[in-house]
Amino acid sequence: MPVRLFNTLTGQIDPLVPSDGQALRMYACGPTVYDYGHIGNFRTFLQIDVLRRFLKLSGVEIRHVMNITDVDDKIIRNSSEAGLSIGDYSARYVDAFFEDIEALRIERPEEIARATEHIPRMVELVQRLSQSGAAYKTEDGSWYFRLASFPEYGKLSKKDLSGMEDGARVDVDEYEKDSARDFALWKAAKPGETAWDTAIGHGRPGWHIECSAMSMEFLGDSFDLHAGGEDLMFPHHENEIAQSESVTHKPLAHHWMHVRFLLVDGRKMSKSEGNFYTLRDLLLKGYKASAIRLALISVPYRHQLNFTFEGLIEATAAIERLRNFHERLVNGAFAAGENSDIQTAAKDAQAEYMASLANDLNTAEARAPIFDLIRASNSAIDHGRFFDCDRNAVLKVLASFDAVFDVIEDHDAEPTKRAVAWAEQSGRQADIAPELQARLSLSDEAIDALVAERTQAKKQRNFARADQIRNELAEKGILIEDSKDGVRWKRK
Ligand SMILES: [Zn+2]
Repeated sequence: MPVRLFNTLTGQIDPLVPSDGQALRMYACGPTVYDYGHIGNFRTFLQIDVLRRFLKLSGVEIRHVMNITDVDDKIIRNSSEAGLSIGDYSARYVDAFFEDIEALRIERPEEIARATEHIPRMVELVQRLSQSGAAYKTEDGSWYFRLASFPEYGKLSKKDLSGMEDGARVDVDEYEKDSARDFALWKAAKPGETAWDTAIGHGRPGWHIECSAMSMEFLGDSFDLHAGGEDLMFPHHENEIAQSESVTHKPLAHHWMHVRFLLVDGRKMSKSEGNFYTLRDLLLKGYKASAIRLALISVPYRHQLNFTFEGLIEATAAIERLRNFHERLVNGAFAAGENSDIQTAAKDAQAEYMASLANDLNTAEARAPIFDLIRASNSAIDHGRFFDCDRNAVLKVLASFDAVFDVIEDHDAEPTKRAVAWAEQSGRQADIAPELQARLSLSDEAIDALVAERTQAKKQRNFARADQIRNELAEKGILIEDSKDGVRWKRK
C-alpha cells in the first residue's frame, strides 16, 4: 500500500513513491542555529521523522537531506553582539540541536548539509540566474531575484500576487506574510560582517538560495518530496521554487509537505506570552522525552496541535501502559498454543495501523487499534486464554508500532540527565524541578542498597522500617514491586 500524503502543490492527497523507482529523495528545511529549538520546531522534525520511519517500515528506501542554516541575519547579529565568529557562535546550537533530536529519538537524515560549506554552489546558482535574466545586481553589490521573471510565482501557497510591484525589494530573510517583493539572493557585506570573496562579490548568501542550491546538489534538479513547517511555505518555499525552476525549467519537488503549527494552552506560543517552551525547559520540569515525543506526534501533522501539560501527563500514562504490557508479554510464562481471537485481533490491528498511517499519516487513528489490542490481550491473559503464539503475534504488532512511534523501549534516563547537567553548567539550576532533583539525587547503587535493606528488615519482621524505606523511595519516584521472582524497582 503506497503512502498517500497531502501535497500542498496539487492541493490533494497524492501517492508518495520514488520517481526513479529506487529511493525516495526528500529534502527537509532544517534549523537556523541561533538559539535552542522550541517544541514548535520539534513538532515539525518529529512529524517528518514519522514519515521517514513509516516509509522505511513500508519498505521504501529513502535519501533524506536536511540543511543547517548556519549563516543568516540573526546569527550574524547575535554572534557580533557576543563577540564571537559565526562558527563559534552557532557551534553550541548545532550541538544542542543534535542532542535534542537524539533525546526525541528523531532519526538523523542520510545527509546533513551546512550552508557555510556549500557557498560555491550558491554562487553558481546566482550566476545562472543572472545569465537567464532572473537575477540582478544592485549598487551596493547585492543580488536580487526578479519576481516578474517568474510568472508562476505563488503556485505553491496559492497567493494572489496580482498587485505585485515590479522592482520593489526586500533584503531581510524574513518578511511580512503577504508582501511579494524581489528578494535577496546574495547580500553584500556590511563593514565587519562575516563574508565570502566570490565571483559575484564580497558577501554572503540569502537564506532562500541556500536550500535551492543544497537540495539540487544532493538530490538533483527534480526530487520527490520537499518538507518543512507551514511557516516556510511562503515566502521561503515559494522562493526556492522560483530560484530553482528559473534555471532548470523542471519542478523542484513533485510533492510538498507542510506541518502545521502548534498552540500552547490554546494560544500562539511566544516568549512574551510566557508560554514558550524549548525541549530543555520541559525536560527540566521532569517530563520524559518519550512523553514529549508521543504528545507531539499523536495529533496528525495537518491538524493544529494544542499542547498542554495535561496532554503530556496523558502521554506519560499511555507510555506507561505500553511499557507495562510489553514487559508482561516478555516476562510472562505462556502455555503453548494459540487463541484464534487474539490471532485475528493482532492481524486486524496491524492492518488498521498500517492503513491509518498510509492515509496521510493519521497518527491518531494509528494509535487506536494498538491500545484496543492491548486491552483484548490483557483480558485474555487475565482469563488464562493467551498463549505462546499469541505473545509472538502481539509482540510483532508492538514492534511495528514502535518502528514509527518509538516510545516502548525506555531511553528516558539519559536525556533527562543531560538536560540537568546542561542546566547546572549554564546557570539554570533554578529551572530544575524539585521533584526531578529529588529523583536524580539517588543513584542506582543507592536504590539497590535501600531495597536490600528493606528486604532484610522484612525478614527480621521490622515492618515499620520496611514501610519507611518504601515510602521514602516512592517520594523520590522509585516504585518497588514485590513478585514471586524477587523485588524489582523502577523509576516512575
Ligand atoms: Zn529551506
